[in-house]
Amino acid sequence: MATKLLLTLAICRLIVTVGFTFNPNDLLRLGLDGKLSAAPADLQSASVDFGGVYRAEPMAVLHPATSEDVARLVKAAYDSARGFTVSARGHGHSINGQAMTRNGVVVQMSGGLKNKMLTVSEKFMYADVWGGELWIDVLTSTLEYGLAPKSWTDYLYLTVGGTLSNAGISGQAFNHGPQISNVHELDVVTGKGELLTCSEKENSELFQAVLGGLGQFGIITRARIALEQAPQRVRWIRVLYSNFSTFTHDQEYLISLHGKPSSQKFDYVEGFVIVDEGLINNWRSSIFSPSNPVKVSSLKAEGGVLYCLEITKNYHLTNADTIDQEIEILLKKLNYIPASEFTTDLPYVDFLDRVHKAELKLRSKGLWEVPHPWLNLFVPKSRIAEFDKGVFKGILGNKTSGPILIYPMNKNKWDDRSSVVTPEEDVFYLVAFLRSALESGDETQTLDYLSNQNNEILKFCEDESINVKQYLPHYDNQREWRDHFGEKYWTRFQQRKLEFDPRHILATGQRIFMPSF
Ligand code: FAD
Repeated sequence: MATKLLLTLAICRLIVTVGFTFNPNDLLRLGLDGKLSAAPADLQSASVDFGGVYRAEPMAVLHPATSEDVARLVKAAYDSARGFTVSARGHGHSINGQAMTRNGVVVQMSGGLKNKMLTVSEKFMYADVWGGELWIDVLTSTLEYGLAPKSWTDYLYLTVGGTLSNAGISGQAFNHGPQISNVHELDVVTGKGELLTCSEKENSELFQAVLGGLGQFGIITRARIALEQAPQRVRWIRVLYSNFSTFTHDQEYLISLHGKPSSQKFDYVEGFVIVDEGLINNWRSSIFSPSNPVKVSSLKAEGGVLYCLEITKNYHLTNADTIDQEIEILLKKLNYIPASEFTTDLPYVDFLDRVHKAELKLRSKGLWEVPHPWLNLFVPKSRIAEFDKGVFKGILGNKTSGPILIYPMNKNKWDDRSSVVTPEEDVFYLVAFLRSALESGDETQTLDYLSNQNNEILKFCEDESINVKQYLPHYDNQREWRDHFGEKYWTRFQQRKLEFDPRHILATGQRIFMPSF
């Protein structure tokens, strides 16, 4: 009763604030199976995200029980005389408020679904999963059948709908493509409140629009994810380089093997940049033994910077006897610093869930819920050496405040019809500055300092005409979004918006389109 009163008050506030001619009781009359809430705890958690920089409070939060709940809510927003905004929120792991909506309704996709919707087809090797399912739960369920998704993110406490709205990348992307290249079918609630099934064959424009679509064209309520036989164990190898061009040469060589039989290539290729000595034993490099720390200075890093190649080989216990030989043949082709090799062997799940361990450690030290001014860039292969010189060996000035990932991907594994934009080259790198800001202590660790440095990096790329594309992009106005997409893809993006969300109801936290009411 109290909750109902709170909700009615909240919706009345919505009318006063935005001047809607929407009857507050209409939302309560939608006949939802899930819960519409205006409880302070719900509003608070929908107002923040992992970035910890932006804040926007919705008027209500829907915890849907079914896809139909989502459709009813969006239809109410679309049909009402003046409309209201609706944003899907996955697990709130965005950086810049992308899943928030001020004074609208947030659909909390993760958690709380009454009847878990996750089915696996062993015959056709796919899983049908709820859009708010966390990848860790998808993994746990599919492993019961000895199967697992093919393409991953480094961290699994993200939702299926959230990563598919961006791309979903990790060290498997060179081989399998991003997660958006490994989806057969979706159920989507469009901005008109229609619940549609889409795939390559059915409603294909909607299918391609939604993949990497930043939540602009619909809310994904079900995804059919491609699976493979799950490996049992992983050999996880890290080697160091002091020379950047040797490092990138080896990374590019390894991803060029994508068409080879699995025995002749690694399953995962990533890497990171080590700018300051402290980082070599940090949370993303935990396999370097703390009892045997590596001294950057002892490795004669050029310009004070080292590069770590991270590769894995998956295997089943039945072929464990050939794995050493396969790895040896592959490693022989690489030119890393002799004796810089660190190898560990672990269960497949432990490898995939590796970042969660680091999360638990950081949480215990109060270092997880701090601002995260992250910057993710796709850098064309032809300009990566200049980027190294200007940024890793220049702008960063031997201080990073967090891991910096760098790994190349093959463009031919990305579908140009999806909504993501990537550089116009066959190979491009992800460079991810995954930094945490601290307000006390060193000035170089503050949010202001790191945000300014991000701007400096972007300005450097602009001045040098290095045509980078932001991944998990964030811009403040439409002009910048136009530049991000480029004229051709911006026109397509706008047309898709007009077709699937003409009133600009969805995902306004991305700041691409203003609501048309
Ligand atoms: P949210 O942040 O809640 O939402 C993101 C956007 O998608 C919003 O605009 C939202 O409205 C929209 N959205 C959410 N759910 C849906 C849905 N069902 N249908 C339609 N739109 C929806 N990304 C990688 O690619 N690779 C990585 O290795 C990786 N590692 C990460 C590690 C950490 C610790 C963190 C915090 C993030 C990482 N990310 C990575 C980024 C991650 O992919 C994005 O944050 C992404 O948005 C997923 O997070 P989420 O599920 O919490 O979605």
